[in-house]
Amino acid sequence: MPKPSQSPPLSKRDLGQEPGGSDSGGSAVGAGGCLILVATPIGNLGDISARALEGLRDADLIACEDSRVTGKLLRHAGIDTKLVAYHDHNAAEMRPKLLGRIAAGARVALVSDAGTPLISDPGYKLVQEAVAAGLNVTMLPGPSAPIMALALSGLPSDRFLFAGFLPPKSAARRGAIQEAARAPVTLIFFETAPRLVESLGDLQAVLGDRPAAVARELTKLFEEVRRGRLSELIAHYKEQGPPKGEIVLVVGPPAEDAATEADLDALLAGALQSMSVKDAAATVSAATGRPKREVYARALELGRGGA
Ligand code: SAM
Repeated sequence: MPKPSQSPPLSKRDLGQEPGGSDSGGSAVGAGGCLILVATPIGNLGDISARALEGLRDADLIACEDSRVTGKLLRHAGIDTKLVAYHDHNAAEMRPKLLGRIAAGARVALVSDAGTPLISDPGYKLVQEAVAAGLNVTMLPGPSAPIMALALSGLPSDRFLFAGFLPPKSAARRGAIQEAARAPVTLIFFETAPRLVESLGDLQAVLGDRPAAVARELTKLFEEVRRGRLSELIAHYKEQGPPKGEIVLVVGPPAEDAATEADLDALLAGALQSMSVKDAAATVSAATGRPKREVYARALELGRGGA
């Protein structure tokens, strides 16, 4: 981690305070008040950027989720900027106060416990209301677990859907996976270690046996990215027991030759002429790689004359 005294100063130009410091997109930081979103490390203090350190040092106030967590980071960097709490439980009360300070000329930094604020962390409404009030908003970007997991997964990274935390209960979880299933892109979810195997099972049941990656303890001592088909990952974690630490799940898009809905209906219609719903679903599921549960549900609909 760079020593605070060695960090290059955050120039006005860096913050868009001089002509040419930003494009014409309307988000330049003018003189006066500003909301500054600051990304912090996700496990390795060395990942804080020089700009983030300067931004935190120069701020009039740092709004943080947990002052113990952010206090530790600031102490490490020798920064003594005042901290105020901004978390799910006090956000509605704190927002007008913070926006008022910015409107009065203060530079308010927003950090979360780790990573990029707003990414499954507080901040979205603060930014929304700051923008609506015509206040300056900028960002000192940096680490974010879903992006690091995607980059390391070995799965297509050109298009992806970040779907946040998977719900804890299986029925809601399958619903959330089902919603994401239709997108022909790589999927990214947050999950906890104790629920990993159950969630991998639901992912396989809804999506079929797609390629996936479990990214764990990123940037930390025991960083690990395990790649494989969902079935292989399930077998591994069943055998090894639940892993420790923080986890991002990345699941590849459906195979390009995966059967379309029309193909599926045609195959099922053919099979249903000579087979029971159960057998037709099993046969078509095996032929297409589509999850049995999904094919069975569609077979039932077709069997009932559904469109
Ligand atoms: N805002 C953060 C970011 O940009 O990375 C994410 C915050 S979210 C509340 C916390 C979740 O992110 C964890 O439960 C875990 O799923 C994931 N996560 C955070 N740090 C991680 C790490 N070092 N390795 C793997 N996953 C991590």
